[in-house]
Amino acid sequence: MKFQPRASHFIDGEYIEDTNGAAIEVIYPATGEVIARLHSATPAIVEQALNSAKNAQAAWAALSGTERGRILRRASDIMRERNYDLSVLETHDTGKPIQETTVADATSGADALEYFGGLAASLTGEHIPLGGGDFVYTIREALGVCVGIGAWNYPTQIACWKGAPALACGNTMVFKPSETTPLSALKVAEILVEAGAPKGVYNVIQGYGDVGASLVTDPRVAKVSLTGSVPTGRKVYAAAADGMKHVTMELGGKSPMIVFDDADIENAVSGAILGNFYSSGQVCSNGTRVFVQKGIKEAFLKRLSERLDHAKIGDPMDEDVSFGPMVSENQMNIALGYIEKGKAEGARLVYGGERIERDGYFVQPTVFADVTDNMTIAREEIFGPVMSVLDFETEEEVMARANDTEFGLAAGVFTNDLTRAHRIVAGFEAGTCYINTYNLAPVEAPFGGSKMSGVGRENSKLAINHFSEMKTVYVSMNDVEAPY
Ligand code: NAD
Repeated sequence: MKFQPRASHFIDGEYIEDTNGAAIEVIYPATGEVIARLHSATPAIVEQALNSAKNAQAAWAALSGTERGRILRRASDIMRERNYDLSVLETHDTGKPIQETTVADATSGADALEYFGGLAASLTGEHIPLGGGDFVYTIREALGVCVGIGAWNYPTQIACWKGAPALACGNTMVFKPSETTPLSALKVAEILVEAGAPKGVYNVIQGYGDVGASLVTDPRVAKVSLTGSVPTGRKVYAAAADGMKHVTMELGGKSPMIVFDDADIENAVSGAILGNFYSSGQVCSNGTRVFVQKGIKEAFLKRLSERLDHAKIGDPMDEDVSFGPMVSENQMNIALGYIEKGKAEGARLVYGGERIERDGYFVQPTVFADVTDNMTIAREEIFGPVMSVLDFETEEEVMARANDTEFGLAAGVFTNDLTRAHRIVAGFEAGTCYINTYNLAPVEAPFGGSKMSGVGRENSKLAINHFSEMKTVYVSMNDVEAPY
């Protein structure tokens, strides 16, 4: 098999297999073919990975930030040099079109390695002068062994978004990719070693949820960073709390996108397309509740349908294809189930709505109009190519309805009224907001959710605070005064 890795796990700088672990079949979503067979980690593999990360941590943290950063930046260069091959792998792992994976996966992973590699040398504590000559200094310290657990939609990116800041701060990592897309994180581990990362600094083990759960409760682990759904986040956060571990939770969403009647319609339609159909709708921050002001609703829907006619659906390895399959049969069935619910609850189907008759797990880009706030498709995260268009009349009304959700990952507004745009984003209960665009996530900007969508932030300088902690040192320059 062309995409079969040398072994399932990458621990202490080497590929390692343990065939006693449960089977994991990697399926190419465009055809349903098995492209690799792996094994879930056994307790012995989990033990080996955690020991390796634990043993490597002190020496890694003892390097200067400049040295750690240099390794991360070298890894970034290697990723960019191999972008095409890594993209082919990512396309086979996820089904996402090569048109997307060549610009959004290994490249964004490389961005994270480069950005945090660049920051590593400047991570410091501070000096705090006090009265009478005393002072405090703070030491920024690594947390220790960090666990990363990934979702299946952006496997390379997630492996790097977690690994790069963790390693920059002097932590080591055990990363468990999603069992659905286990291949690319192994490449990230290989590349880090090639770039000079000492053995054990970045380990990858495969597994289902039980392997993730066993990592989260292990006393050697100081921090858990999860990208996944809200139900998994709840479990992982609770388990981590028991051991008082640090957490970052990047969870699901049902984000609003508001289009006012003064907006540039072409841009709003582009934003709605990117925010609903990129990666066949399998993006956590998608703006799946599209609120369109009544006056432009029909014009918006007409342009949207015309533009969707130009989506090129097909073999994701074809460079002209812009819309691929969903990641798995299971995920396809979930999306088709929601489409049926939308029809049954009275939403008006204006585009798509069916499985595509060909091999693989293809669902048409689907748009429902006349969706109301209480319909299932407007309340639950679908994680597929299903857009709900809702009507609104006033700013006040739409603000309240946009926030009426347990989620708070992202939110967007399209308008040419400058003050309204800022008023709206000030009112959004969401971690990541957009004005006149949607779904961009540059490494320089904090990314993450509010409410049930998560805790903590990835990317930007803020990620450093989630992968390090401060030691406070009070220094007295005076005699010690005691009452007796
Ligand atoms: P999921 O919650 O099913 O699984 C996520 C990961 O958690 C997998 O690796 C899984 O094996 C592991 N896991 C499952 N149970 C566990 C447990 N009890 N303990 C520890 N680990 C466990 O999510 P998914 O289906 O892989 O991904 C889709 C979800 O991820 C969507 O809800 C999506 O919104 C979310 N997501 C969020 C972001 C973000 O940055 N906010 C990005 C991508 C995806």
